[in-house]
Amino acid sequence: MSVADGRRMSAARAYLHEAIDRPNVRLVLHCEVRRIIFDGATATGVEAVVPEGVVSFSARREVIVCAGALESPLLLERSGVGDPRVLAAAGVPMVAGNRAIGGNLRQHRGIAFMTQFSEVPGGSAVLPFGTATVAAVLKSDLSASAPDTDLLFYPFVVPGHDGAPARIGGAAVGFYPHSPTSTGSIHITGPGLEHAPRLVPNYLSTDHDRKLLVAGFARFREIVAAEPFASIASSADLPKSEDEEGLVRHSLEHGAVINHPIGTCALGPSGAVDDQLRVRGTDRLRVADASVMPTLPSGNTAAPSMAVGWITGDLILDGVSR
Ligand SMILES: Cc1cc2nc3c(=O)[nH]c(=O)nc-3n(C[C@H](O)[C@H](O)[C@H](O)COP(=O)(O)OP(=O)(O)OC[C@H]3O[C@@H](n4cnc5c(N)ncnc54)[C@H](O)[C@@H]3O)c2cc1C
Repeated sequence: MSVADGRRMSAARAYLHEAIDRPNVRLVLHCEVRRIIFDGATATGVEAVVPEGVVSFSARREVIVCAGALESPLLLERSGVGDPRVLAAAGVPMVAGNRAIGGNLRQHRGIAFMTQFSEVPGGSAVLPFGTATVAAVLKSDLSASAPDTDLLFYPFVVPGHDGAPARIGGAAVGFYPHSPTSTGSIHITGPGLEHAPRLVPNYLSTDHDRKLLVAGFARFREIVAAEPFASIASSADLPKSEDEEGLVRHSLEHGAVINHPIGTCALGPSGAVDDQLRVRGTDRLRVADASVMPTLPSGNTAAPSMAVGWITGDLILDGVSR
């Protein structure tokens, strides 16, 4: 969690607000970037939609894409940088071929169960602190060489899966494999912002992830069967079947992503970006967000994403001083 003085803190308040008055910072709100402008394969600016119409911004030095792991690959593809087959099918002229863009989508996917407490009244004002107020990183199987599962405790109950927190005493307990090996993809289906992307998540599609889900469920069972849960937890919305197939189905139908997508412009020898986060096949174009992480960190992704931003700042300054 990002917390300051007991309240949730945002990256904008922590970093942007203090820099906003610098002469080299300009914040444009209500502005959606449609595509990157290229001269050959050199990025020279961006074209964006604002309430007044379409505007373009030119870059003196370079363009840095940080639209997040779901949007950055789409922006690159709309701009002609991506897998030639994806670009051709979407009707986008190719600027630079880069087959890694939009693949390797990884995400934490797990299950959360609602347990209702008989002796604890419901309360209010928990959300200002964040949702999961207790987290654990554990070994799904005690003989494992390293922790492999994340467990989250949320101090409230959400009755339906799309519902709001209820004023009944209880806790939601969720768990998920923290280094999933399942990979999916996200790609454009047309040249414009109005064309919906095609997202193929492939959650829990590898043996590794499915086995960890089953082992994580056994640990969850142990925890809610222990005190202080055991004597007050009166119900839990458990799956109909607790074998591997039943648990995977339950997670896909009733579970949730933990909102940690990464990997779609991954760093690596054959990745979308090189070790300076420059987009392969192009010039003066970098990606600096969660999409450059090749695999999931063993935890949540906000702080690692801010670290990517911080390191990119250093890389840019290195280039400026050289
Ligand atoms: C509901 C929710 C809860 C979360 N809770 C936690 C948590 O408790 N702890 C934790 O560690 N992580 C949490 N995360 C994950 C964390 O927020 C992300 O990993 C992190 O924000 C990723 O940073 P990013 O810079 O890659 O992308 P983002 O933070 O998504 O930033 C991308 C920005 O680009 C903008 N954008 C996208 N496309 C365009 C475009 N075409 N033109 C202009 N702008 C564009 C978006 O509006 C957005 O502001 C949560 C995520 C969600 C969704």
